[in-house]
Amino acid sequence: MALIVQKYGGTSVGDPDRIRNVAKRVLATQAEGHRVAVVVSAMSGETNTLVALAEDLGGSVPDPREFDVLVSTGEQKTIALLAMAIHGLGKSARSFTGAQMGMRTDTAHTRARIASIDASRILSVLDEGSVAVIAGFQGVDDGGNITTLGRGGSDTSAVAIAAAIGADVCEIFTDVDGVLTSDPRMVPAARKLERISYNEMIEMASLGAKVLQTRSVRFAARYGVPLHVRSSFKPDEGTWVVPEEEIMEGLFVSGVTYNRDEAKIRVRGVKDVPGVAARIFGPLSEAGIIVDVIIQNLAQDGTTDVTFTVQKGDYRRAIDIANEVGGLIGAVAIDADENIAKVSIVGLGMKDHAGVASRMFEVLAEKGINIQLISTSEIKVSVVIAESETEAAVTALHAAFIEVGAAEPVVEN
Ligand code: ADP
Ligand code: ASP
Ligand code: MG
Repeated sequence: MALIVQKYGGTSVGDPDRIRNVAKRVLATQAEGHRVAVVVSAMSGETNTLVALAEDLGGSVPDPREFDVLVSTGEQKTIALLAMAIHGLGKSARSFTGAQMGMRTDTAHTRARIASIDASRILSVLDEGSVAVIAGFQGVDDGGNITTLGRGGSDTSAVAIAAAIGADVCEIFTDVDGVLTSDPRMVPAARKLERISYNEMIEMASLGAKVLQTRSVRFAARYGVPLHVRSSFKPDEGTWVVPEEEIMEGLFVSGVTYNRDEAKIRVRGVKDVPGVAARIFGPLSEAGIIVDVIIQNLAQDGTTDVTFTVQKGDYRRAIDIANEVGGLIGAVAIDADENIAKVSIVGLGMKDHAGVASRMFEVLAEKGINIQLISTSEIKVSVVIAESETEAAVTALHAAFIEVGAAEPVVEN
């Protein structure tokens, strides 16, 4: 008998029939003798509708406390409906909001972090033979205020609950077959991976593969929660996210991802002297703006350019700060570009094989795609390109590295 957390995403609970199907699937798992806690998202489209309403009445930056009170209602609807659907099938279930099941967070509205979970509450419901149906994405701070965990946060709720109750597995049920080699909405040839390491999955999620929220994978890795991403609509096994040691034969490249949510800012013609980078990035970090890729050009005539990317949501504020700092440090100009995309390849195989990055640049060159910025780590290479070339780049990289003939140009170390 296992202890299982099942998380169902928005599409999986998108209408009454789908909720009924989820109820059946949960009860089938329970009928096999397992104890099941279920975490659900809002019905598909619901969170977006609530966000749009908040922006309509609350302006472009609605009051964060009230925003959380509003957007958390999407999940509250689903828990009640799923509990009713389980009752309709003659079985016992109880719904819980984040606050009711003791999901404590910090006070950072709209992007709260989990502080603690009252596992005993959930376990006692399961021990009664009931299904615990828990609202994902939401928690409560020490002051009793409702908080939310950021978009896609139900994944993190599920993994954190699995860690807290010592579940044997956390199953993430979604609208695709598992973790695929790329986003199937962009690359129809994308295929399911049987296994992927926690580290590759963390990179893929943070580089744009939204199938899992990045934080959920970090949590799973830290607490050793076995994670199984699978289809809500098919019985088949999906993708297991596992420690690196359990990956027998890795692909050079496991995934190709893209992120169109960043913008680029260049501070031109600053003096090449110590302290310049600190003066540019200090104020950005004080303003809570996360900077991603940073490139400083080689100095010429004693001056240099510093280019960096930020989230599109922070773009305007970042430009204002760059202009202000640029004036103080004698920059020649600030240029900015919102129409960019970051395209990345991720794979454990890069650790042991040379030539992956250069092959990536060749593939892009063959398609006439200009690379603006490059950033690498042990298991990924990212490039920033024009946004309009995203699909061409992702498709070409997927064809070259994952479809036929992927391994050829790569040299073993
Ligand atoms: P849920 O509502 O179940 O949480 P999401 O929409 O958040 O589902 O995530 C699933 C979606 O992630 C898929 O429909 C797919 O379009 C997208 N996706 C992007 N990259 C990948 C990938 N590498 N593997 C699987 N899905 C991906
Ligand atoms: N409903 C929230 C969202 O759409 C949380 C989630 O689905 O994970 O972002
Ligand atoms: Mg999601």
